[in-house]
Amino acid sequence: MAITYIQNIKRLVDGELVDGTVTVEDGKIIELDGPMPENQGIIQVIDGSGNFLSPGFVDVHTHLREPGFEHKETIATGSASAARGGFTTICAMPNTKPVPDSVENMQLINGLIKDSAVIRVLPYGSLTKDISGEERTDMEALKAEGAVAFSDDGIGIQLASTMYEQMKEAARLDMIVVAHCEDNSLIYDGVMHEGKRNVELGLPGIPSICESVQIARDVLLAEAAGARYHVCHVSSKESVRAVRDAKAAGIRVTAEVCPHHLLLEEMDVPSDDANWKMNPPLRAADDKDSLHAALLDGTIDCIATDHAPHTVEEKCCGMVGAPFGIVGFETAFPLLYTAYVKTGKWTLQQLVDWMAAKPAEIFNLPYGKIEVGASADFTIINLEKEMIIDAEGFVSKGRNTPFNGRVAQGWPVLTIFEGNIAYQEAE
Ligand SMILES: [Zn+2]
Repeated sequence: MAITYIQNIKRLVDGELVDGTVTVEDGKIIELDGPMPENQGIIQVIDGSGNFLSPGFVDVHTHLREPGFEHKETIATGSASAARGGFTTICAMPNTKPVPDSVENMQLINGLIKDSAVIRVLPYGSLTKDISGEERTDMEALKAEGAVAFSDDGIGIQLASTMYEQMKEAARLDMIVVAHCEDNSLIYDGVMHEGKRNVELGLPGIPSICESVQIARDVLLAEAAGARYHVCHVSSKESVRAVRDAKAAGIRVTAEVCPHHLLLEEMDVPSDDANWKMNPPLRAADDKDSLHAALLDGTIDCIATDHAPHTVEEKCCGMVGAPFGIVGFETAFPLLYTAYVKTGKWTLQQLVDWMAAKPAEIFNLPYGKIEVGASADFTIINLEKEMIIDAEGFVSKGRNTPFNGRVAQGWPVLTIFEGNIAYQEAE
């Protein structure tokens, strides 16, 4: 019997931080706030030093790059980076090489995850073969191999009929369709938001309609198909309105927002620096405001990082030639805690729910909550600890962040996955 006793921690009970303990046996929580077990053989005792014990975070939108792009990230480095950020369950997007679009490829990816992930990694299956938007995948077969949901993230599904057919199949299988919404005819080779700052910098812009028109199309398709539909990284006020209207109409739609879209806007982009290039781009101040309002009123359901590592060489030389994406695992909680909980705009409970319970609930995963019988997935966070973000010190292979040099407070010091330590801060 493997027993772990975590003492000297604070946990959130009905929105309040209270002193507590957690007893774990064989990877599951068996008691909350109980005494140290006696006569149970060898007990591992973890002292939380009075810090906050949060449920391990759940990230439904991540890119681990393996197989195929191991120079950017691997399942080992990506999952370790996530553990450092307090995540214990992450869903891996299918834009790898090969793409998990067949039983064989799904088995290959599951094997890699089993071999090297330090936390729970749940792979997506793709909606179309090779994420080409053309030939549809056999979703039933991919579900049987453990696909957590279906997405072609990185590219929008251009043909409505392809999306409609896969939504009908997803509804039959009781699976979720997760969409990166982007109409290719409206991208215009853009690299940042089409607004004011791109003109100042002389860079091609991506208009907000590139995203919003496809969301508007998809929610109507989801209604017709009776499908569960989840929108990735909502970035514009028009997109928020489309999701809000769809929810009001009773359509089964949920949505996520990324930390960078909450924290930054187009005018923050300092120069033609590819560490500020991501898709969708940082939009205008009123877009950012609408994302905040949407999160608070429940139009947007959860926060996801869209962790997207690239090499220094790929990001070195301006936006036009660089790939889209920034890393996010190791900075998400401290940045949001510092900007919104410390300032009283959000409660700690809200932030933790958006990063743990809510995404788990949307994806029907039995994680993200601390309760007897649940998997022992936690992160212990020092809410007082202040640190300068240093990309060179990331566990991720990626250094591509616009937040390098920022001061943030509230850092995970210990992450526990299924009762075992997955990350521990160096002394
Ligand atoms: Zn995407």
